[in-house]
Amino acid sequence: MKKVVKFGGSSLASAEQFQKVANIIHSDDNRRYVVPSAPGKRFSDDTKVTDMLYACYHLAEADKDFKKELSAIAERYQEIIDGLSLTLSLKDEFKTIEKNFKEKAGENYAASRGEYLNGIIMAAYLGYEFVDAAEVIRFKDNGDFDAEVTNEILGQRLAGIERAVIPGFYGSYAGGKVKTFSRGGSDVTGSIVARAVKADVYENWTDVSGFLVADPRIIENPEAIETITYRELRELSYMGASVLHEDAIFPVRREGIPINIRNTNKPEDEGTWIVESTCQKSKYVITGVAGKKGFCSVNIEKAMMNSEIGFGRKVLQAFEDYGISFEHVPSGIDTMTVFVHQDEFIDKEQKVVSAIHRLADPDAVDIEADLALIAVVGRGMKSTRGTAGRIFSALAHANVNVKMIDQGSSELNIIIGVANDDFETAIKAIYDIFVIARI
Ligand code: ASP
Repeated sequence: MKKVVKFGGSSLASAEQFQKVANIIHSDDNRRYVVPSAPGKRFSDDTKVTDMLYACYHLAEADKDFKKELSAIAERYQEIIDGLSLTLSLKDEFKTIEKNFKEKAGENYAASRGEYLNGIIMAAYLGYEFVDAAEVIRFKDNGDFDAEVTNEILGQRLAGIERAVIPGFYGSYAGGKVKTFSRGGSDVTGSIVARAVKADVYENWTDVSGFLVADPRIIENPEAIETITYRELRELSYMGASVLHEDAIFPVRREGIPINIRNTNKPEDEGTWIVESTCQKSKYVITGVAGKKGFCSVNIEKAMMNSEIGFGRKVLQAFEDYGISFEHVPSGIDTMTVFVHQDEFIDKEQKVVSAIHRLADPDAVDIEADLALIAVVGRGMKSTRGTAGRIFSALAHANVNVKMIDQGSSELNIIIGVANDDFETAIKAIYDIFVIARI
């Protein structure tokens, strides 16, 4: 059995965290390929090493002195090295980094050093081989990740190595120039490595015991989800629930490798399993609830809209012409509503409204602002009667006015539109009815 284990920044922020990580790795012989992030925050107003690197490089780029800032980064690593009683020295590495910063090696190179250096320490501490991600993770000239070439290079390289540390977050173009994924991209690296070695499990270790049923900033101590499908996860992540980088799903999904989200500080917790499909029922009718504020709705009215072929296309054309993507389009007989992100829309609203008039000739266009969308997600909803009824009676009891309802044809989610001000109350009401009351 082969497991790929990725550890996030908070799991590797100090020597003490490194020790916990090593215990986790040593407690299961199958944990053979390790993907570390850069050191994250040690306390709430600490700075992540990645952010320190960006700031430091911006000074270098502006031809300002960055010695102090680079020394502060070196100290973060030295503290870890000393705390682990390693004899390793990163002096030469920092000399090279300083030289490359002066030569303006680029922001991507700068940010990648966080994972690179942490990988060197991790490999020395575990006694595993260090494999530089720049040699095995490849990007195309247009900046897209090159999945197939990477899978071949990485698969071949790791085939000959029993245990290795591969730093997360970056790779390189064919010419060797370093390129990073977007922020949080070590999750993606872990998934890529899992695919390349055909792992049985991709364990993603973080600082929470899995994917939570609801946002902990709204619900105190929400329950963790035991098992979630990729599709459910996508719905919840899209609505802002984030534990895992969105692109981390694709590489393992292709191979049918499950992801297990685990807590470095509570390794005894089983965490959340993310799988393609399952016959395991979720503990509650809903798997999770998440949402986002900051939408507005554009309501378009036209008598006899139902019989006018092409009306919807013309309306959506107006949004497309101004580069605005729409989120939901619920419709009635003579009405159609388009939900958009308020901040994307606000500067262009009058132009879009006149384009709608020009293209579709409606009777009236009405805009409503400050709305929130909430997704209630659950594979269990398909086979349970009355879920929508329970949601709406809970919202009615909580005095929340529902402005929009949209149930996807997959019966996997119900999207509800409410006023921004009702957002937290609505999430609480939904959580209470399904999780606390378990109705
Ligand atoms: N260190 C990078 C970041 O802070 C990547 C990662 O942690 O996954 O975004």
